[in-house]
Amino acid sequence: MAEGLLGRLGGRGASSKAGSGKNFDVALSDEEWRQRLTPEQYRVLRQHGTERAGTSPLDKQHGAGIYHCAACGQPLFDAGSKFNSGTGWPSFSAPLEQAVETDTDRSFFMTRTEVHCRRCGGHLGHAFEDGPAPTGLRYCMNGVSLDFHAGETPPESAPAGDAPKKSE
Ligand SMILES: [Zn+2]
Repeated sequence: MAEGLLGRLGGRGASSKAGSGKNFDVALSDEEWRQRLTPEQYRVLRQHGTERAGTSPLDKQHGAGIYHCAACGQPLFDAGSKFNSGTGWPSFSAPLEQAVETDTDRSFFMTRTEVHCRRCGGHLGHAFEDGPAPTGLRYCMNGVSLDFHAGETPPESAPAGDAPKKSE
């Protein structure tokens, strides 16, 4: 039953890069991505690049809102789960439900958990197990992979039913 994310992803073509072996809802050709994205976005999202720490304005963005995938627009993180990790990259303790998938990244002689958009496979960053409670996870994201929509509220599954909407 509980295969887990990694088990489910590992089946098809072992160590494929994002976009090459899997079927994503949004699947564009390399050329189409190149046209749609900025060079830096393309380098990070499609080629598993990493932006320089401290270069993303989103690292210091602490307002309420939703962080979307910069490639396909899928909502990925609620600002409520964002925290200041001090790393220079926007960091979150948890993604929105069904928003991201993970893979095992064995590059640079390390085993890390790679995180990509569930909808388009765009590379977002990595997840580490040294985050704050309650998840203990740190989703270390490239700001260039994210598109912040200030003031937006999470899609449907809001946690509490009786809490009044705080959007005025
Ligand atoms: Zn996406």
